[in-house]
Amino acid sequence: MSPRKTFYIFVTGGVCSGLGKGITAASIGSLLKASKMSVFSIKFDPYLNVDPGTMNPYQHGEVFVLDDGTETDLDLGHYERFLDVRLSRYSSVTTGQIYQRVIAQERAGRFLGKTIQIIPHITNAIKQSIQDVVEKYKPDVLIMEIGGTVGDIEGEPYLETARQMKNELPNQVLLVHVALLPFLKTSRELKTKPVQGSVRELQRAGIHPDIIIARADEKIKKEHLEKLSLFCGVPVESVIPVETFNSIYEVPVNLEKFNITKQIFSTFNLPYRRPAINPWRELIKKIHDGGTKIRIAVVGKYTEHGDAYLSVVEALKSAACANSVKLMLEWVDAEKLETNDEREWLKLKQADGILVPGGFGARGIEGKIQAVKFARENLIPYFGLCLGMQIATIEYARNKALLKNANSTEFQPDTKTAVIHIMPDQEKKLLEQDYGATMRLGNWACKLQSNTRSAAAYGKSVIQERHRHRYEFNNQYREALEKAGLKIAGSSPDGRLVEIVEIPDHPWFVGVQFHPEFTSRPLQAHPLFRGFIAAAKQNKK
Ligand code: GLN
Repeated sequence: MSPRKTFYIFVTGGVCSGLGKGITAASIGSLLKASKMSVFSIKFDPYLNVDPGTMNPYQHGEVFVLDDGTETDLDLGHYERFLDVRLSRYSSVTTGQIYQRVIAQERAGRFLGKTIQIIPHITNAIKQSIQDVVEKYKPDVLIMEIGGTVGDIEGEPYLETARQMKNELPNQVLLVHVALLPFLKTSRELKTKPVQGSVRELQRAGIHPDIIIARADEKIKKEHLEKLSLFCGVPVESVIPVETFNSIYEVPVNLEKFNITKQIFSTFNLPYRRPAINPWRELIKKIHDGGTKIRIAVVGKYTEHGDAYLSVVEALKSAACANSVKLMLEWVDAEKLETNDEREWLKLKQADGILVPGGFGARGIEGKIQAVKFARENLIPYFGLCLGMQIATIEYARNKALLKNANSTEFQPDTKTAVIHIMPDQEKKLLEQDYGATMRLGNWACKLQSNTRSAAAYGKSVIQERHRHRYEFNNQYREALEKAGLKIAGSSPDGRLVEIVEIPDHPWFVGVQFHPEFTSRPLQAHPLFRGFIAAAKQNKK
């Protein structure tokens, strides 16, 4: 019997970036998954950074963390949410990594003095990264997104790899091109010419798209699709419009309206299996139906709004759907709380639930501490994520355990009351300036205490959650804080690392040292987010 084949889908972008190419690619994957195919994904980032985790989040949105501790960008988050898979470092490939690999091989004398070139050495290294995934995960379908826009100089080796694979593996490789139809206000029409141009650019690289996804904010008419079909040489049924929707989760259902899975199965010469898309339909219905409005205040730094907290927002939305309520997000600027800005305080006062997400650095910390105090004293459901858990600990120490000057050494390095600190063995590494090594990254086990909100939410006693932080709860203060009423609801199995703090005599007050937002799914909200929103629903003003 021949070994099971993997089918490959490359997704490229045309005209400009920010089209939702990743969402389209992930949506195609979700449909194939709904057709009972196993799906895995790779995002190729054509930039030269070796480690995307060290890139500025304001430029690239949040840093998304995988089970194995890989720090990637928010696209991988879309893939995990749409595909409901757990990706790994194999899913995030940058040109920097590819070059590093090839140069290391050259240094090791592997090329025997030959000239090293983009073709075949770099393209072979790209293929190797694809092969690594196939060997390790054996997916039926591997979706590969080529970052950037067709025509970018950095993207060429990836297009060349796609071209070679299409030749080498007939009926096993499919190319999807996602491109923008710009709208001209003066003539009030969508223009197809830029898409034609980007398809021509693909052809220059020797490849021809099998499917074109036409993106626009406005209504795309049949005549646009026909025009694109004629000029780009793609059958009209394979030119699929995707207009901008209220919710990204409408994309899979919309793609399927145009029979995308049928076309994919037919290109791969596979017997057709219709995808079971009802769960996505039901989700959209819930999103549209809404329900009671629940206000959640997210307290952060002014500059961090938007994509910096994408996974937190997605997790809140899913939890709202699971609770049949409509989420009203309020961004509260922590620094403005410090200066008693009335508008910011009003947002906090009107909130049905308060959340402090992860963060780094001292700015806005005192404002966040005030927000936690407000939630604790006024019995408003509170959810602290990573930094939000550390802030909750500091607030409790200061105001309930009489440790007036409690702080974290992150914000006040010379504090005498460091309830949050770097553990001594970690500190040594930090002094040696090995910053990367001092982060606690990826999945760590946590044992839950019975009779806690967390245990009730998870319904099990040991969990695995993703981490990304340097500082920890200081065990020296554990007894004092517990005596004052703070419950250690979860810790590492050896008891050394505090993972969850709760306040038992409060409607819902949970701080977690990890990032539950990364593993929440649209069709399956994370249990803690679900619990938080349920409590906020009960607290509705
Ligand atoms: N700055 C804190 C730390 O490094 C929290 C990090 C976070 O919220 N991800 O421990």
